Amino acid sequence: MEERLLEIRNLKVYYFARSGVVRAVDNVDLFMNKGETLGVVGESGSGKSTLGLSILKLVPPPGRIVDGKILFDGIDITKLSEEEMVKIRGKRISTVFQDPMTSLNPLMKIGDHLIETIMVHEDVTREEAKERALSLLDAVGILPDRINDYPHQFSGGMRQRVMIALALALNPDLVIADEPTTALDVIIQAQILELMKRLKKRYNMGIILISHDISVVSEIADRIALMYAGQVVEFADAISIFEKHLHPYTEALLRAIPNIELADQELVYIPGSPPDLTNPPKGCRFYPRCPYAMDICKRKEPPAIKVKPEHMVKCFKYQ
Ligand code: ATP
Ligand code: SF4
Ligand code: MG
Repeated sequence: MEERLLEIRNLKVYYFARSGVVRAVDNVDLFMNKGETLGVVGESGSGKSTLGLSILKLVPPPGRIVDGKILFDGIDITKLSEEEMVKIRGKRISTVFQDPMTSLNPLMKIGDHLIETIMVHEDVTREEAKERALSLLDAVGILPDRINDYPHQFSGGMRQRVMIALALALNPDLVIADEPTTALDVIIQAQILELMKRLKKRYNMGIILISHDISVVSEIADRIALMYAGQVVEFADAISIFEKHLHPYTEALLRAIPNIELADQELVYIPGSPPDLTNPPKGCRFYPRCPYAMDICKRKEPPAIKVKPEHMVKCFKYQ
């Protein structure tokens, strides 16, 4: 029996900005089991990062979790105090972001980054922590003699490997990777994804991989959630998403993937732009861009429909 690692129920996260209330995450339901990779995909501004930050309880003001539950290993994170969250962050849930330079101290050797992280959280000697740091560097493909180098001495791809080693340092149950390869060129991007795939098997941790690019998550995701305008519009196992997707937005995103085998194909863009989240359309949020829109779509919000026990779609076409 597979064990639930994370279950999000009816989550609402809003930013109370001066210009209005931004409903960045609005009624999101999701789950993932231990050791799985969940891909979260959607256009810019669809609420992906806000969702990731909610799981760490790090949504910056004026944002706040307004409603819902985030059950991590059975514990509702929304109810925990900052003191309790400090024990979870890094140790049980860690992160990898797009730009490692903002997370690494430029004045600290990468080995010291790893050693300090381990020593702050665990009762080990410096020697033991160094031993672990070296084995982590080895796991991410960095040679041991680079332990005394500073972040600026590494290329973008190598720095991202350092970030991944740091994220793994305390053996977390869940790693949230928010656009971890977006700043890298395609070859390095592929290497980093390959590395994450290998490490996931070796350490058996769960990964939430956030990306605007569905082809990136296709490499490693077991499940995929498609986000549109603050909502999950389709959620299923990766095979169903690629072979039996139902939502018009999923269809549009998949059509927009360039196929390198077709030399002079036209790249398909999704016409229109995502709605303003301070004032989203009343009915289906995808209505203004949907080629299948019906009259009801304009008036009513589509319900979450379970076409299979683990395949959800929010669209009137399937009611
Ligand atoms: P991207 O792909 O560009 O990273 P995203 O899917 O991660 O986008 P979020 O960053 O979660 O999207 O943003 C969701 C919505 O919340 C957007 O409309 C954004 O403008 C808004 N938002 C994010 N941070 C803030 C903030 N600090 N104050 C007000 N609104 C915010
Ligand atoms: Fe399109 Fe209607 Fe489905 Fe929304 S509910 S995606 S507008 S068909
Ligand atoms: Mg983001």
